[in-house]
Amino acid sequence: MRAIVLGSAAGGGFPQWNCGCGNCVAVRKGRPGFEPRTQDSLAVTAGALNTGTFALVNASPEILLQIQRTRALWPRAPRHSPISAIVLTNGDMDHVLGLFSLRESWPLALYVTASVREGLEQSAFIRTLRRFEGQLVVRELILGETTELADASNEPMGLSVRAFPTAGKLPVHFVGKATESPEDSIGLSFTDNTGGSLAYAAATASADVALEGHDVVFFDGTFFREDELRRLGLSKSLAKDMAHIPIDGENGSLARLSKLGARKIYTHINNTNPILAPDSDERRAVEAAGWEVAYDGMEITVGSSDVGGPK
Ligand SMILES: [Zn+2]
Ligand SMILES: [Zn+2]
Repeated sequence: MRAIVLGSAAGGGFPQWNCGCGNCVAVRKGRPGFEPRTQDSLAVTAGALNTGTFALVNASPEILLQIQRTRALWPRAPRHSPISAIVLTNGDMDHVLGLFSLRESWPLALYVTASVREGLEQSAFIRTLRRFEGQLVVRELILGETTELADASNEPMGLSVRAFPTAGKLPVHFVGKATESPEDSIGLSFTDNTGGSLAYAAATASADVALEGHDVVFFDGTFFREDELRRLGLSKSLAKDMAHIPIDGENGSLARLSKLGARKIYTHINNTNPILAPDSDERRAVEAAGWEVAYDGMEITVGSSDVGGPK
């Protein structure tokens, strides 16, 4: 299995359009080591980069840019895309908006939980992906069950995925308008026939999620501290108010998950997170504990041919 990080930032991206925090100023100025990041997405294939079909995890608002700068996702025929399926981890705007940019008549299989599906069906925009029968084939993920991914015409992709709950929350636009459910926000466990496994839990309020036994774990790196936004005077919200576990603290992901045997990668990084500064103490702390920090374009090989990263 191979994976390409298409976007490694949390909602808002890096820099965020309306943010003048130290990190955002530094990346706008091009200060060394500060790399711009687009919003959360991962491409996964069981095949080779130049011949495999891909499942995307989430469809970010920057999806067209992400495809354009990722050679493996370029068309291989006059009308073609290597993207066969999209799996959504929740219904947040930073994970969904890109769907509506993929409306140029290419059949896609969409894998979502029932509650995320319900939310999507409330948008009239979804019709732009239903111009012909079979353009968007929606299939439901059931928590705890393993699903073999297939393209819109049911051709297996050689990848399986299992959804697990991540103690998330409803998308902001449904808070107070829909009933909360454990299906609102999920993590994903991918496996392929080489035995490789990759977990993706980029938005989770808890470290008590099913991450054991994976070769590679992508984890929620949204905030370094619980009160990161308050300290910077940007918001009254704590990390937990947004259903994210911070990296730091005795119950943070660094303390709780560094013992995992997997290659561990923080992603979905908010622009305020000090790990984005290349020479910060916080960056050094996560690296010293064996974690990597995802960046746009990062390529990962999972399983038997895995050569990169600490085990
Ligand atoms: Zn997000
Ligand atoms: Zn900022």
